[in-house]
Amino acid sequence: MNNEIPRATALRLPIYHRYLRFLQNAGKKRISSTELSEAVKVDSATIRRDFSYFGALGKRGYGYDVDYLTDFFAKILNHDRLTTVGLIGVGNLGSALLNYNFRKNHNIRIGAAFDVNADLVGTIFVGVPVYSMDELEQQIKDQHIEIIILTVPEQFAEEIVDRLIEVGIRGILNFTPLRFNVPNDVLVQNVDLTNELQTLIYFIDNEFTT
Ligand code: NAD
Repeated sequence: MNNEIPRATALRLPIYHRYLRFLQNAGKKRISSTELSEAVKVDSATIRRDFSYFGALGKRGYGYDVDYLTDFFAKILNHDRLTTVGLIGVGNLGSALLNYNFRKNHNIRIGAAFDVNADLVGTIFVGVPVYSMDELEQQIKDQHIEIIILTVPEQFAEEIVDRLIEVGIRGILNFTPLRFNVPNDVLVQNVDLTNELQTLIYFIDNEFTT
């Protein structure tokens, strides 16, 4: 069922889930579709259609059961599953990300970091062990790491990505300026803060000139 839902519906699921969890934490047991609609700013017909993809989840005159729906969406969104992420390159950017370590999200955690710097290898950085690059493949397998955050200088990135493909990594969050050719079953998400800023500047400039 999960594969058949429209993309727009799939994009709204985390919004519904976040609000339902908020209600659950506040001890609320049920919510009407009108209340939900007002809170998440999605009209109630859309909510009903979205929910209909998952079977009849609400009862007329009763509304939606908050506990049931929260668990239901958590399962669909894989929120029960912890994703262990690895990070390669514990420099300026890498250590900032290790410090952050997705603390506000209980389902993602950086479990291992890797570097070539002998001063860093063998230490524990904000709770995350730093391994040498010789241990990369073994740790990825042992810790079931599916995703790697890549924060190394660009000249080393290509060779590392080849190793990641070889060991069967599923996704790479790439902060280096390099762009990689990877097989279809590996996803690369490129993050470029300069690009983001330039986009922002573009929109600000156009806002003021049009
Ligand atoms: P940095 O020099 O502070 O850190 C790089 C780290 O990688 C160091 O700890 C170094 O020991 C380690 N390293 C070097 N070669 C390695 C290898 N072969 N294997 C494993 N680790 C290795 O650099 P930084 O300022 O943190 O930048 C890191 C990367 O992020 C660069 O590619 C930079 O261009 C990029 N960057 C991207 C953005 C962005 O918006 N996308 C912003 C800042 C930096």
